[in-house]
Amino acid sequence: MNFYIKLIFFLSFSFNIYSQDPLDTGLEDRNTALNYAHYLNCSGAFEKKIDGKVYFFPCKNEEELQIKRMQMQVRPEVTEVWDPEPKVVIPGNSFGMAPSDAIILFDGTNLDSWIQENGEPKWSLSDGYMTVKPGSGGLYTKQSFGDCQLHIEFRTPSQIKGEGQGRGNSGVFFMQEMGVKGDVGYEVQVLDSYENRTYSNGQASSIYKQHIPLVNASKKPGEWQSYDIFFKAPLYDEKGKLLRPAYITVIHNGILVQNHVQIQGTTRYIGYPSYKLDKKKEPIMLQDHGDLISYRNIWIREL
Ligand code: MG
Repeated sequence: MNFYIKLIFFLSFSFNIYSQDPLDTGLEDRNTALNYAHYLNCSGAFEKKIDGKVYFFPCKNEEELQIKRMQMQVRPEVTEVWDPEPKVVIPGNSFGMAPSDAIILFDGTNLDSWIQENGEPKWSLSDGYMTVKPGSGGLYTKQSFGDCQLHIEFRTPSQIKGEGQGRGNSGVFFMQEMGVKGDVGYEVQVLDSYENRTYSNGQASSIYKQHIPLVNASKKPGEWQSYDIFFKAPLYDEKGKLLRPAYITVIHNGILVQNHVQIQGTTRYIGYPSYKLDKKKEPIMLQDHGDLISYRNIWIREL
């Protein structure tokens, strides 16, 4: 089967039909299982009774399915995309101040709107900005959000340390439930991408390992930068079936870099994206990736 047909199967399975992995739960009819088997490049479909009900699984038997499962647990490099490399655009210099209906999440004076897994925020606060405290974990909004417009400013360290993904890494995660392990949210990557090549779908303002930014609008290390993000949360029916995937638009330093792109599922470091069952609203999380990223002027409008 050619790549595009596979992709259509992948998209339809990922986005429209299941929020859970059909390789684990089985499918209700044989034809769908056979279609999925085509997508997996395996042969046939087999049936299995679970709680007295017959389910169909792609592949000719449990053994072949197990091999396919293992192949899908891929190395992290498999989901890196290096080409094309977004061209560099030098941004202008303007920052967005909060409009009257915005919820101020951080004005530089306190961390009252934020929480960490072990309680009060441990990130440091000084001179109107806050900074990641490496090892302390992500910083979560106390309030949960669904559809929203988020403005956030960040700065990667002026002293360059490391390279690629190891240089100025953090991230803005939507729908990141606190206390759930693993890659469960949708990340807009924060990274020092000024003359710092990494895989294109992992550089600053990428939707991590899903969408390459249209251009590289990064400023130099140590300079303040901004994201304006328009996020549309995924929608599920009452049974947890995905009705509509999430969409996201990102403006980086005043330049459009993600134009209403469809999020393919949780943004995973390892493996392919798939949808979990999100609540209607969940916290936004700023990532602790071990680097000293600072944030300031964070405000949000619920849509
Ligand atoms: Mg990150």
